[in-house]
Amino acid sequence: MTESTSKGEPNKPKDTKLLYLSDTYKFEAESILVCSGSDTKGTFVVLDETIFYPQGGGQPSDVGIIEVDNRTLNVHFVSFNNGIVQHYVKESVENLNYASPCKMKIDSDRRLKNAKSHTGGHLLAGIVEKIAPELVGVKGHHFPEGPYVEFKGKLSSFTTNEFIDKVTELIKENIDANRIVSAREIDQLELRNLRNTEYQLQEGKKARVVQIDDFEPVPCGGTHLKNLGELKNFNIRKIQFPKENTKIGYICG
Ligand SMILES: [Zn+2]
Repeated sequence: MTESTSKGEPNKPKDTKLLYLSDTYKFEAESILVCSGSDTKGTFVVLDETIFYPQGGGQPSDVGIIEVDNRTLNVHFVSFNNGIVQHYVKESVENLNYASPCKMKIDSDRRLKNAKSHTGGHLLAGIVEKIAPELVGVKGHHFPEGPYVEFKGKLSSFTTNEFIDKVTELIKENIDANRIVSAREIDQLELRNLRNTEYQLQEGKKARVVQIDDFEPVPCGGTHLKNLGELKNFNIRKIQFPKENTKIGYICG
């Protein structure tokens, strides 16, 4: 993972501390350069802790800059690799000093757009599962182009038009009520009781879940809004039934 051209003895990378898990709205922070490397996606740097969200869980990565050794690195993509967050940069990383302090700044507009789209997906899934128990959320895609949530099972409690009207009405109610979105860690016992997960934890590990008010908690490592009132609009784009599943496209911001 390390490059021989950089100065100093590189530190052996340990798991990156994920600052975005505790604060969606932290757009700037300081960290320490741990090492650099390259793979098929390009050249990357690893930091001790990061505010950059790595792409995954149906959410695009953050982009931004890292200032280190009086140089500015433009981060165009971020990925997660066995506990290590890799920040892919456009510039050369030769002769960077490992253990140098650095400053991170993410694109805050992009972060908030992603958090809105992602939180909107949870809201949609939570409401659908409440009013149509035959549907269980199995996949969320929260990219700006065509976000959707896919459910296992085919809609049978309502006609499609009634369903869209009801879901739209309840989403508006929940946004107007400015319901709180929270995240916490749970253990295997609590995880097993959740309706829509077959996820298995390693011994002694905990899972992060996100929860809107009294909705069912959902395992998720993404970035979310604090309150639903931050969503200014929400619309269902379309509903489809691929392979006996139900797929609901939405748009929100
Ligand atoms: Zn989430």
